[in-house]
Amino acid sequence: MIKLSGEALAGEGELGIDTNKTFSLAGEIKEIHALGIQVALVVGGGNIVRGNTLAKSGMDRATADYMGMLGTIMNALALQDACEKQGLFTRVLSAIEMKSVAEPYIRRRAVRHLEKERVIIFAGGTGNPYFTTDTTASLRAVEVGCEVILKATKVNGVYTADPKKDPAAIRYKKISFMESIKERLKVMDSTALSLCMDNNMPIIVFDIFNKGNLRDLVCGADIGTLISNSEELVKDV
Ligand code: UDP
Repeated sequence: MIKLSGEALAGEGELGIDTNKTFSLAGEIKEIHALGIQVALVVGGGNIVRGNTLAKSGMDRATADYMGMLGTIMNALALQDACEKQGLFTRVLSAIEMKSVAEPYIRRRAVRHLEKERVIIFAGGTGNPYFTTDTTASLRAVEVGCEVILKATKVNGVYTADPKKDPAAIRYKKISFMESIKERLKVMDSTALSLCMDNNMPIIVFDIFNKGNLRDLVCGADIGTLISNSEELVKDV
């Protein structure tokens, strides 16, 4: 399971969809698919609408969140288009029914698509407001039996503090779910982390903006941060 933020389709801090970036991302997905790996994707919507941002400026939170979920469907279609242009077979499965553009999410169907070597793209988040697409990735990964969640971000792992603000911040190579929740490390929201913790679903946080990282990661390179139920804490010193 690869969790892509909306930003991965737009560029760091950018809005909208950059077709070149999306195509290049799809090329990286193709590379790992060619290694024989079954690939499921969850895409966020932060490049289009973030529910809590609109809510802060006065909009009803649930309405804003539904708009956010609709944004993820646009991103999923963009990603599908790019993946197909790279020669992959794909299916978009949406938690919000939109039959003319995507299949409804049906777990058994998702598993079947994976068996048939199709790349599946989960759209529409969980279908519920007050959740995030990180939680969607955790939920779907557990449901369809993924081995690991690769959380694609703009930093190369989880740090003791924000590395952009604190030059003394140290990267964790390994950290437990419990520790990352306790330390309130801004890696994923607590709902997503607890779901993974309770269901033993490891997460690897890595930098997607560095081309080739995805392939290196699945080939076993020591990249990013592994979050798991192991109590072993390893810092990159
Ligand atoms: N969202 C939601 N429920 C979900 C998933 C997403 O309400 O199950 C909404 C929420 O408003 C969120 C927006 O969709 O802000 C976009 O998702 P997210 O912020 O997770 O995107 P990312 O940060 O990964 O680009």
